[in-house]
Amino acid sequence: MKDFNAANEIQDLQYFGEFGGVNPSISDSSTYTFLSAKTMFDTFEGNADGCYLYSRHSSPMNLYLSQALAKLENTETANVTASGMGAITSVLLQICKSGDHIISSRTIYGGTYAFLKNFLPPFQIETTFLDINDFEAVEASIKPTTKVIYCESVSNPLLEVADLKKLSEICKKHNLQLIVDNTFSPLSISPKLLGADIVIHSLTKFINGSSDTVGGVYCGSQEFINDTKNVNSGACMLLGPTMDSFRSASILKNLRTLHIRIKQHSHNAMYLAERFEKDGLRVVYPGLKSHKNHELMKSMMHEEYGFGGLLTLDAGTTEKANELMELMQQENLGYLAVSLGFYKTLFSCSGSSTSSEIPEEERAEMGITDGLIRFSIGLDHDIQRTYEKMKECMQTVGILNHETISILN
Ligand SMILES: *Cc1c(COP(=O)(O)O)cnc(C)c1O
Repeated sequence: MKDFNAANEIQDLQYFGEFGGVNPSISDSSTYTFLSAKTMFDTFEGNADGCYLYSRHSSPMNLYLSQALAKLENTETANVTASGMGAITSVLLQICKSGDHIISSRTIYGGTYAFLKNFLPPFQIETTFLDINDFEAVEASIKPTTKVIYCESVSNPLLEVADLKKLSEICKKHNLQLIVDNTFSPLSISPKLLGADIVIHSLTKFINGSSDTVGGVYCGSQEFINDTKNVNSGACMLLGPTMDSFRSASILKNLRTLHIRIKQHSHNAMYLAERFEKDGLRVVYPGLKSHKNHELMKSMMHEEYGFGGLLTLDAGTTEKANELMELMQQENLGYLAVSLGFYKTLFSCSGSSTSSEIPEEERAEMGITDGLIRFSIGLDHDIQRTYEKMKECMQTVGILNHETISILN
């Protein structure tokens, strides 16, 4: 683990523009000419490396961004898509066909959950949802038709950490693919080094970090990526979730500062989590000793990047949560918005937003309570100032009581 440094790998990738520009030129074309008809035929057959044919398949800028993201995840290669869901659905539909079975963590992104739970069954692809760190349950649910174990390295919104090493051992034993969505922990966790076969990101979040576009990527072996881009049978080629070249250019530029941003997100989130916990609030953050997976995360992560920018706080009821979020927004502490990884803090009530696809009873069983607020902590320069202002908001809505605080402080 120590030898691999994704930030150095990305820093060292040098792409010149067509006229010596310090950024690569954007290829503003959907189709490409051939000097000979024979080369066009060879390209269709997949036998002409370095030739572009049509931008749904490949384009220069998408290949640059894909290459950089393969460096991030230490995989042979990668393929960018128009959204995170575009990556997730392409990967799963490439691997799983009618009659196949998936084992998935039950605490996953709402859209992924809805895809597995509602969209795939009519195609005879069934999913078993379970607590992914209950290895006995995982092994017990493996069937002859099981193809995939699917999880998020740090889960949404409860920030549970999956023991990827353990899951990868199970996958190797039963010849399954371990697919890991690493959206919450780029740079901090390198799933491939822990045994994952395919690593997925929603680029929409930390990697782009500007909340100005959606995007996705899947990183894996050259063979797998080629399969997904095959003109006759590739899920990505045929479903067509292609990223636009202009967007991949802007995401690549933002990726250049990811290492700095992640450290600041983590620093700020740790600061707030520690203080709010001390103040007596119910805080979930993997950097806290009280988090059930704290030691596990420590054993899996590159420590310099910290425990990430996400934390949750239980306001008790939906009403209190809403009141607090509206007040914090009014005080310019952040935005009442879904998504994550922005320079400004974003907060939303998970049960009534990004996890609302999960039925109420299942949410309760998982621990997604009605008053649970998910925070994506921003890049605030002065986090102490932010803390003090947030604390005032919490006192105003009555989530924190003035006296307890003065004693604790
Ligand atoms: C946002 C998100 C997705 C979906 O990505 P889009 O870019 O919105 O399609 C998938 N997984 C996780 C963990 C996410 O946070």
